[in-house]
Amino acid sequence: MADIRIHDKIFSPFISAESIQERVRDLAAQINSDYKDKNPLLIGILNGSFIFAADLFRSLTIEAEISFVKLASYKGTSSSGHVVTAIGLEEELHGRHIIIVEDIIDTGKTLHSFLPGLHQRQPASVKIAAFLTKPTALQYEVKADYVAFEIENKFVVGYGLDYDGQGRNYPELYQLKEEFLQGL
Ligand code: 5GP
Ligand code: MG
Repeated sequence: MADIRIHDKIFSPFISAESIQERVRDLAAQINSDYKDKNPLLIGILNGSFIFAADLFRSLTIEAEISFVKLASYKGTSSSGHVVTAIGLEEELHGRHIIIVEDIIDTGKTLHSFLPGLHQRQPASVKIAAFLTKPTALQYEVKADYVAFEIENKFVVGYGLDYDGQGRNYPELYQLKEEFLQGL
């Protein structure tokens, strides 16, 4: 596998498509056993999670539903100075078992801002499935229940994750090359 160039940066192969598919199937097997007869509603966070969500969902053999939200984040007047609104989540959530599907938990800020609004709608339970987590970058209290890979704090692309719009369609994961880290 060769390095790739996206815009001005070079990325090196990091996790193969085979390893990704294997881990996604592992997570699906766990969810199949944890959510049998619970008809969970998976909620994919757009845009980054769409490929992970599709592969995960396709590997579920239990009764399950899926929907997607786009989170719009802007500077608000709250103490955190950060407000997240969910666009497109029209399903009734009351009493449902929710599994949030996220591409990557970095600082945790996105999900930390999204979760209170979700809990207000009184779901029966909320768990988080993250394709990637960067434990050393975490700044907010967010705990993923299903994680495909824990990675170090370096920028990655592929499998749904982009660099400035590009790179989402690679079936494997690439990591930014060290010498190009400056300026990020
Ligand atoms: P958080 O709110 O947890 O800090 O950031 C989550 C979001 O930041 C992810 O959903 C993703 O859009 C973006 N992000 C964080 N780290 C990376 C990375 O290494 N690569 C890419 N492509 N996006 C990232
Ligand atoms: Mg995202």
